Amino acid sequence: MRFHSMLLGVTLAAASATPGFRTHAADTRPSLEGERIETPDGELRIRPLQHATFAMGWKGRILYVDPVGGSNRFASLPRPDLILITDIHGDHLHVETVRSVCTPTTQLVAPPAVAAQLPEDLRARTTVLTNGQSAAVLEFHIEAVPAYNLTPERLKFHPRGRGNGYVVSSGSTRVYISGDTEDVPEMRNLRDITVAFVCMNLPYTMTVDQAADAVRAFRPRIVYPYHYRGSDLERFRQRVGTDLGIEVRIRNWYGD
Ligand code: ZN
Repeated sequence: MRFHSMLLGVTLAAASATPGFRTHAADTRPSLEGERIETPDGELRIRPLQHATFAMGWKGRILYVDPVGGSNRFASLPRPDLILITDIHGDHLHVETVRSVCTPTTQLVAPPAVAAQLPEDLRARTTVLTNGQSAAVLEFHIEAVPAYNLTPERLKFHPRGRGNGYVVSSGSTRVYISGDTEDVPEMRNLRDITVAFVCMNLPYTMTVDQAADAVRAFRPRIVYPYHYRGSDLERFRQRVGTDLGIEVRIRNWYGD
């Protein structure tokens, strides 16, 4: 991806200067190529991959969110320490892809409906969270945020209680991943979000106006529209506006 090329150069230079050197856990580990966001709780790296699928580097860990699309998509990335899965649909859960990217120590977090579809060996490494539950996993506190439809004709896509959004936090830094949802009160009531990934697309989730209004309600520092196929992102950016100091990061999530 074009916007990563400079970061990649820096990453490769650092790696070649320290062959075989594994930095301590507070550093971002064998460098996930991606955008860097400085936080009081260490550097975050963000790597959009496809639609709802992305990778993050934080606290020396590699996190994958909804890895689907086959192992080739992840071939150039570090393997995940942690995989977060939000829902059962094919753009969020693909068991063969999950299996292909896992190492023997990779941990998973998933809602019960997803865990039920995982083979036993993967389920044994899964922290199962229902809406509203939270757990400490590796260096993170992870809270499952309800993700569901509100509009009557969309209820069939995401009934309340099945899917999870997540807030992944460390210290005062909080990353919100919406999963497939509309602008539910549980999203609007979020606070102190550093980086938010917010879905928008019809007919499955919500309009850009709903998404923008929700973002204005919970005021993340940075928001990445994701899961946005076919949506008018400039309209989203304009409706979020600049008066609240929210940075909208529009990126290409459909490159491959
Ligand atoms: Zn989806």
